[in-house]
Amino acid sequence: MRNAELVSRKDAATPRGVGVMCNFYADRAENAELWDVEGNRYIDFAAGIAVLNTGHRHPRLIQAVQEQMERFSHTAYQIVPYASYVELAEKINARAVGAFKKKTAFFTTGAEAVENAIKIARAATGRPGVIAFAGGFHGRTMMGMALTGKVVPYKVGFGPFPGEVFHAPYPNSLHGVSVEDSLAAVRQLFKADVDPRRVAAIIFEPVQGEGGFNVAPPEFVRALRSICDEHGILLIADEVQTGFGRTGKLFAMEHFEVAPDLTTMAKSLAGGMPLSAVCGRAEVMDAPAPGGLGGTYAGNPLAIASAHAVIEVLEEEKLVQRGAELGDRLRQALEALRSRVPQIAEVRGVGAMIAVEFQTADGSPDAEFTRQVQGRALQRGLLLLSCGVYGNVIRFLFPLTITDSVMDEALAILADSLLA
Ligand code: PMP
Repeated sequence: MRNAELVSRKDAATPRGVGVMCNFYADRAENAELWDVEGNRYIDFAAGIAVLNTGHRHPRLIQAVQEQMERFSHTAYQIVPYASYVELAEKINARAVGAFKKKTAFFTTGAEAVENAIKIARAATGRPGVIAFAGGFHGRTMMGMALTGKVVPYKVGFGPFPGEVFHAPYPNSLHGVSVEDSLAAVRQLFKADVDPRRVAAIIFEPVQGEGGFNVAPPEFVRALRSICDEHGILLIADEVQTGFGRTGKLFAMEHFEVAPDLTTMAKSLAGGMPLSAVCGRAEVMDAPAPGGLGGTYAGNPLAIASAHAVIEVLEEEKLVQRGAELGDRLRQALEALRSRVPQIAEVRGVGAMIAVEFQTADGSPDAEFTRQVQGRALQRGLLLLSCGVYGNVIRFLFPLTITDSVMDEALAILADSLLA
């Protein structure tokens, strides 16, 4: 089958709203490499949007899913439970940030984890309000869209959204938003929009993903924690994109001195199988009554089996440390190119969650150059994703299992693409 033929069949058979970035179709993949139906090879720095920290088709994941498939693939956990769900909850409770008793519930997508975190926070506090941040991304469901702080393309035409959601700016030194600006905006919400005693939760990404790999300054996270403590508000860390080794820690919140009350996770949690989770303080997690949480596929056994394998692989292959090392290499490579690529405004990130932001000579966002770099890299066989509110950031989401030689090859293509 040819790519061009599939593109035209796709256009005829599927809606344009499901926007597709690449005009080639996947045939097979292995670790950090992917081949299309015409046999072209790509180095995969998109990793299914941050899902493949353990790479494509890790043998341990294949084995775990195959073994589970031989036993049973679905019972609906809420009908006939299975031990692997409980064991995975125990593992996550032991590893997530916060020195308190935790409980974990499983769902299917990142958006669903976010929806449920808000449900849990509302049930636990008896309050309706939620504060989120501009540039944040929390999913495509109704509450996910309400929380998301970027209108185009996520929110256009889809409202009205659930009420009682308020946004404040996220700190961004390059764009002139200081930590104090951001905190002042939260305090202003309490004056102008909502009584803090009616706010259930503040939800934030410790590193904004879709928003441009903006890293939360530690003093910002500490201040959010103390605002929450002052007003009895729950702090939710959305670690859907930052989790499972991406930032040089298992969870990004390990970089800060404070703990969230609830953590959402998905993506690399199960290495390609659809699984998400909400983990948090036991008494908060227990607020919703039996039957209030769950879903037919929530915590599917195949996905749970895959997640167990992910945790084993991350720990045995020391991938969290490896990710931090690879991130350093990438950062150095980008910094070294700065003098020859004046469009590079900033190289930022933490661990392996690295991005580069481009600006024009007059300091405005350079989405055009970003597209050019992305296009040139793709022509040379390197799949890169952009992000950022202005579409002028390239983010790097290579599998942490990538071999040194494929990483070298990718860095050479990246340099060529930036300099061309
Ligand atoms: N939260 C964050 C931080 C995300 O990055 C994403 C996905 N990019 C989501 C939520 C939504 O996850 P999903 O697409 O699995 O619903």
